[in-house]
Amino acid sequence: MNKNLSLEAWRLFWVLVAGIIAGLMTSRLWPTIVLALLAYCIWQMNQLFRLDRWIQQGLKRSQTPNAGGLLENIISNIYRLKTSRKRGKKQLALLLGQYRASAEALPDATVILTSTGEIQWFNEAAEILLRLQTPRDLGQRIDNLLRDPKFRKFLRATKRQQELRLTSPLDNEVILSCRLINYGQDKLLLTVRDVSIREQLNRVRREFVSNASHELRTPLTVIRGYLEMMSADNGGEDELRDKIHILLEQTAQMENIINEMLTLSRLESSTLEASEGEALSVAQILRQLVSDAVRSGKAESDQITVTVDDSLCLIGIRAEIMSLCNNLLYNALQHNPAQTPIELQWFRSGSDAPCLAVNDDGEGIEQQHLSRLTERFYRVDSSRSRESGGTGLGLAIVKHIVQRHGGHIDISSTPTVGSSFTCCFATSRAVECVGDEV
Ligand code: ADP
Repeated sequence: MNKNLSLEAWRLFWVLVAGIIAGLMTSRLWPTIVLALLAYCIWQMNQLFRLDRWIQQGLKRSQTPNAGGLLENIISNIYRLKTSRKRGKKQLALLLGQYRASAEALPDATVILTSTGEIQWFNEAAEILLRLQTPRDLGQRIDNLLRDPKFRKFLRATKRQQELRLTSPLDNEVILSCRLINYGQDKLLLTVRDVSIREQLNRVRREFVSNASHELRTPLTVIRGYLEMMSADNGGEDELRDKIHILLEQTAQMENIINEMLTLSRLESSTLEASEGEALSVAQILRQLVSDAVRSGKAESDQITVTVDDSLCLIGIRAEIMSLCNNLLYNALQHNPAQTPIELQWFRSGSDAPCLAVNDDGEGIEQQHLSRLTERFYRVDSSRSRESGGTGLGLAIVKHIVQRHGGHIDISSTPTVGSSFTCCFATSRAVECVGDEV
């Protein structure tokens, strides 16, 4: 028992002793004891009132009730709680200060919003990039300041889009990359980065590749023309005919590379709206590809199995989806031994996304190559791929097409067992076929 509590116990004891002595002296023992206890209770009540008044007046040290005993104990506990709360508050303020300072120092514009888009706080970078001003814009809706329908849609979307690129509504020379993160119970964190320079460099690279490819195409067509003429003129000389044949093959390979580079830069330089395209029967496209491959002798008649959902159609760009299917099927044929079993699947995944899978029981690919297969010109075995007429751009094209259609590609493979290339598109692109799609 601490000092104050034992003092209180002694106090009660002496009240009782005084009551008993007075009771014995007046020959009214019980009424006197009751009277003494009543007096003690009234005194304690008075102490509690003083304590209550002191608390209400803000726990001022100068007005601390001076009582000793139980009350003293309560007061010292209150002081201890107060000091530890003060210390906690101080630490919290320090942490908040540090957090704000680091958010201020961020090079990206950072804005804290309510769930309905009202601005609660922003850093210095936001003042520069988004031209926000304190206190003028605090409490304003961000989409009233950044007036762009794409941004409004991005803000209101229930499913968070990873990133939104848009031309700044405040300066059309500036390209912004916006990210929105839900946090806390009903808060949004908006970060905006100026990506104009990166976009500009990308544009310059795309334009260079596209222009260079165009420029190479014309002389190559002339070279091929002359080679074809020489091949037709040269009736007898075997050695020369063989050389012309090799030159023609190499020219065709260069033309393929140039055409695929042009396809890639076309895919990169435009974007697809979420619902752009026509309803395509991927099942029919796959069947057509298989029959073409068999007819041209690239596949055996029973080599490819087609497992498709005929009622599932895809909203997409026909030429792109055909190129995607074509690339995956010809890869499975080209990069595996003859007669390797191949399966083409078209189905709805567990999350309802429309998916195309090309599986083969071929040689498979070592794990360390898988993440790099969709890079331009990346080949597992360069000489073999070139020999088989590969450009090294097929999977890069496939990746861009599937991304333009709101999806992603997954590659899995086990050496000696086989490979699986699965492209899943945006769920919103799946539609029921009505019967007249081709
Ligand atoms: P390529 O024009 O060489 O086919 P791609 O970009 O289409 O270029 O493919 C890149 C590389 O991935 C190929 O060179 C090949 O090594 C490997 N690859 C692609 N598909 C398969 C497959 N089905 N089985 C084994 N290897 C494959």
